[in-house]
Amino acid sequence: MRILMISDHSDPLADIGSKEAGGQNIYVYYLARFLARSGVFVDIYTRWDRKTKKEIRTINHHVRVIRVKAGPKRYLPKEQFLTVLDEFTNNIMRRMERENIQYDLIHTNYWYSGLAGLAIAKKYGLPHYHVYHSLGQIRRDTLQNYNKLGNGLVLYEERNASEEKIAKEATGIIATSPVEKDTIIKLFNVNPGKISVIPIGVDQKIFYPRNYYRVRRRLRISEDEKVLLYVGRIEWRKGINTLLFAFQSVLKQYPRSRLVIIGGGKTDSVKRLEIEDINRQQQLISELGLGNHVAHLGPKPQKELPYYYSAADVCVVPSYYEPFGIVPLESMACGTPVVASRTGGLQYTVQDRITGRLAEVRNQADLAEKLTDVLENGKLYYSNKCVERVDKLFNWEKISKQYIYHFNRHIDRKENHADSNAGPVRRTGTA
Ligand code: UDP
Repeated sequence: MRILMISDHSDPLADIGSKEAGGQNIYVYYLARFLARSGVFVDIYTRWDRKTKKEIRTINHHVRVIRVKAGPKRYLPKEQFLTVLDEFTNNIMRRMERENIQYDLIHTNYWYSGLAGLAIAKKYGLPHYHVYHSLGQIRRDTLQNYNKLGNGLVLYEERNASEEKIAKEATGIIATSPVEKDTIIKLFNVNPGKISVIPIGVDQKIFYPRNYYRVRRRLRISEDEKVLLYVGRIEWRKGINTLLFAFQSVLKQYPRSRLVIIGGGKTDSVKRLEIEDINRQQQLISELGLGNHVAHLGPKPQKELPYYYSAADVCVVPSYYEPFGIVPLESMACGTPVVASRTGGLQYTVQDRITGRLAEVRNQADLAEKLTDVLENGKLYYSNKCVERVDKLFNWEKISKQYIYHFNRHIDRKENHADSNAGPVRRTGTA
């Protein structure tokens, strides 16, 4: 099987800590790698966003990342992607023709890629699966609720209409949680049979529990300190300000506790984008008198994160809006309970009272209560259930098999697609 994967603005090899790099990059990278383990060939097409990047990077014998020229080879805010979408789509097809390569299926990520996928699927008669990662209407509602919409309304109208078109015209939609499936059905009135729920996974060979005391020594954290851990981008919608208020209450009960914040920009240009959020946070930290208890560590490579998750007593995901959220999975895989907002995919990944607690969105008192509850019960109360849940539902090895099962159903029926003889001939056989 040979898959054409499209991830418009999220290069799977981008450094976390670079612009707009986060969960989607990680998802595309791992999905491709795990599909490859079952012998599937995957080419990931993404926008060429830096001159110094090579056009093609081979991850292994089965997976390539192909950078496609669309506009200047530098960062372009994703809000401007429509201006280069046609060039992006045409250049993907041009490369396919140049390499004389035929794919069996298209898998697209985010709505711009979805639109590119529809055009390519139509031209070559290919089945097409789409993953939204984030839904325009939900994001728009959240922005509006927090007075952050500004003049983005027109783009959201375009995005909504495009997301509906993708829902109607793609062969299949993958929702990453049952909550997302219900939302898609409600928003676009599509046949539920067209939507499959396949969650995002975590690599349990990287994320597994390390010895609590040993990692604490390694990270120079004393044994009697309570550690609350936040991992993720520094962005208003991640709810760090609410967390700071909640942490102030937690400190009253647990004076020897520390909030560790990992994530944010690595380069000056990304730091500039975050400056407003960072300044607000710093101001809050000093106003609330938390200075000695909050450690901002900046971004860390993924392979170092298991040590922090293992050393923490609880991981906090206080988002105002979260389509899926990979961080809770990573924490749970390391045996650390999660306190997350009751929103989006977090309601599915975190099982209230079993793998942590769910707190009301942007409610600092509730968040503090849930954090204290988890600290009182102690990490061990949740650890086994956390690992079990990841093992059962969010293991990449199992998830990639679910993808293959779904893809195969449509590849077998490919002859039913219009124009199936169009396009370049197959270059090689299936693996
Ligand atoms: N991440 C990382 N280093 C950091 C901060 C985050 O590798 O310093 C990774 C983290 O391990 C996770 C991803 O970034 O896999 C964040 O994904 P999530 O879905 O939680 O949030 P998103 O970025 O999609 O909003």
